Amino acid sequence: QSIQLGDAKAAEIKAVSIGKTFGAFHALRNLSLDIGRGEFLTLLGPSGSGKTTFLMILAGFTAPTTGRLMMDGKDITNVPAEDRSYGMVFQGYALFPHLTVEQNIAFPLKVRGRSSADIKRKVGEMVQRVGLTGHETKLPAKLSGGQQQRVALARALVFEPSVLLLDEPFSALDKNLREMMQQEVKRLHEETGTTFVFVTHDQSEALALSSRVAIFNHGELLQVGKPQDVYERPESRFVAEFLGEINLLPLDALRLEGDRAAGQFEERTIVLNRTMAMTGPNAVAAVRPEHMVICTGPQNGDRNAITCRVEGATYFGASTKYHLKTRRGTSLAVSMPTAATSPIAPQTDVWVSWPVHQGFLLPAGG
Ligand code: ATP
Repeated sequence: QSIQLGDAKAAEIKAVSIGKTFGAFHALRNLSLDIGRGEFLTLLGPSGSGKTTFLMILAGFTAPTTGRLMMDGKDITNVPAEDRSYGMVFQGYALFPHLTVEQNIAFPLKVRGRSSADIKRKVGEMVQRVGLTGHETKLPAKLSGGQQQRVALARALVFEPSVLLLDEPFSALDKNLREMMQQEVKRLHEETGTTFVFVTHDQSEALALSSRVAIFNHGELLQVGKPQDVYERPESRFVAEFLGEINLLPLDALRLEGDRAAGQFEERTIVLNRTMAMTGPNAVAAVRPEHMVICTGPQNGDRNAITCRVEGATYFGASTKYHLKTRRGTSLAVSMPTAATSPIAPQTDVWVSWPVHQGFLLPAGG
């Protein structure tokens, strides 16, 4: 009853030094990226960073100005979109309004000249797989937003493409529906084994779905890695800040000692993991708010601790975020599970501590 796409059908893509200019404007600069067979790769970045341009180049709708695109070792730079035969779910890539759910899903098989028995079987399987049983003969206008997206996913996957491209497919859906569809896409990826390339500007969506995340800014690929690696070991201020809130502690007198770094932060020395090659003395220590805790003393173990004053707190239900200031006025945020803390009154003097391995260095500027 399941469609056996298997890993063998999934394609491997290699982008080599891709550049794209529109007149004098550089939409993409020297972008090289390997997309593995069966991978779920997410292109993440702010509006205008070049994600869609890159996806359009992958799809074959836009030709790159420079560089090459390889699929399974073959140069496909000049192969038109219709011959790449990728599945696509785009924001504005609407369903055919005059065709029923079944007819929409059958469309890619019809244009490929599949037999009607084959079409009937595949469409039936796909309808079931995306949870649209009972809606087969409805027109898109009679479906909810989530159901329409399911039809779009089914239509994009029914012909067993080697690559599925998705451009912000859920940005119009409300939070609950969006989370449901995210799980749906994740499941479809696992079941089909197809290579998925997904565009979003939503960092939590990228972290939740992907096998790897590629972070774009101003037409450049800044970093690519597993969700946990890009979140916990960002290589630039931009990546660190785009992926979530981060505390930045300016350091003086940085000393590098083996795989560790020690720097002077205000009146204390703090120790950090030396995860990247830092050159020059201008570094900041970076620590995520959820990796810090508020405590009554400096604590034992392999930890850093600094003194702070609580300025206020924001209650988020599961977690509470404390806003603090150091003696010299550096602002910090500490996020702790609400259940694990008792409320701390503003103006209380406290210690903030964190494990050495949760702090990392970033360049002080930019
Ligand atoms: P968004 O999340 O808003 O879709 P994006 O990261 O996908 O953003 P792109 O759509 O790739 O960004 O656009 C990158 C830049 O290239 C933008 O500044 C955009 O204005 C520009 N651009 C894209 N297509 C064209 C075009 N056909 N002509 C001129 N400029 C373009």
